[in-house]
Amino acid sequence: MTDTQVVIVGAGQAGLAVAYYLRRFELTPGEDFVILDRGPGTGGAWQHRWDALRLGSAHHVNDLPGMSELGLSFDTADRTLPAKDIVAGYYRRYEDHFGLQVQRPVTVSRVFDRGADLVVAHDQGETRTRIVVNATGTWGAPFIPWYPGMGDFAGRHLHTSSYTSAEELAGQSVVVVGGGTSAIGFLLELEGVAGELTWATRRPVDFRDESELTIEGGVAAVAAQDAAARAGQALPSIVSGTGVPRTRRIAAGIDRGLLVERGMFARIERDGVVWDDGSTTRADAIIWATGFRPELRHLAPLKLREKAGGLTVASGAAWQDSRIFLAGYGPQASTIGANRAGRVIARQIMAQI
Ligand code: FAD
Repeated sequence: MTDTQVVIVGAGQAGLAVAYYLRRFELTPGEDFVILDRGPGTGGAWQHRWDALRLGSAHHVNDLPGMSELGLSFDTADRTLPAKDIVAGYYRRYEDHFGLQVQRPVTVSRVFDRGADLVVAHDQGETRTRIVVNATGTWGAPFIPWYPGMGDFAGRHLHTSSYTSAEELAGQSVVVVGGGTSAIGFLLELEGVAGELTWATRRPVDFRDESELTIEGGVAAVAAQDAAARAGQALPSIVSGTGVPRTRRIAAGIDRGLLVERGMFARIERDGVVWDDGSTTRADAIIWATGFRPELRHLAPLKLREKAGGLTVASGAAWQDSRIFLAGYGPQASTIGANRAGRVIARQIMAQI
């Protein structure tokens, strides 16, 4: 059993931002606080994203606090390269520069309340600590809604988290499910590579007449997330608050009839999907671009979950236990939100230790 004051679980944007501010408050990385991450490399969830994803293809990606000190900015990164490589490379230099000493790969399986202390159980042993900052993101908890006949489908079910490239679906008929930017990105990538493409969405897509996500759209989405987190409710989807910006690339896709959604199918059969009117669409694969849930399984022993379906979290602090912080949760689930999380959570931690 090792001892420390603060354990940060996860070295994505949120975990690194908290670490950056704790270090600014003169806590020593590797001693006063430790960062555990199960990923094989740097980059948080970005290291696992598909090759064709580029930085800023829909939303702005914010720099980590202090990144300018290294002469790095995502704004000036080479956008012809995969986002996964750019982010992983920048985070690696960031971790090295600030000496953050992330321990990886270390998978946290459980966090226990042992009275005055918390004990973080992981595959390298146990760490006793006063405070836990959970910054585990959502990538490890893909969400696929249930539809009748799902198990009968003879083709492939893929979720955003298991999509690798358009080429693996070359020539195949594909149904893409979901009304957000990931679904749109897949349709644009698959065009001309896959065979027949069909877009299924539960609600009409809320296209906005902006060339990128506006401050107003972002603020409304963040406010909705914050309200749900403060009420302990399950979090709404981000796209339900932001809508989808009608970028030039998206507008062109709408004009040529690619980005036209067909509503939601009623059920799935062996060879495809069946719509409400009884018509069918043959499919070799269904891509579920239906989002993620916060990854919180390892916190189960702490019993933080409310009857309303979520955790009660305000300014990154768990209402049920003042020693637990959730960085990157709800209103903080964007790269800018993660940076803010770093500052507000580090301040609260310093007030406690
Ligand atoms: P993550 O980056 O997911 O990091 C979590 C870390 O926790 C990972 O490194 C993981 O290995 C680790 N971890 C998880 N569980 C455990 C465990 N049990 N034990 C140990 N370690 C664990 N936001 C933007 O601002 N702009 C964008 O353009 C944008 N594009 C996106 C595109 C996609 C497809 C998706 C899914 C999200 C996008 N986001 C974007 C959201 C953005 O990725 C996140 O808000 C932000 O990067 C998440 O940072 P994070 O630190 O919260 O989580």
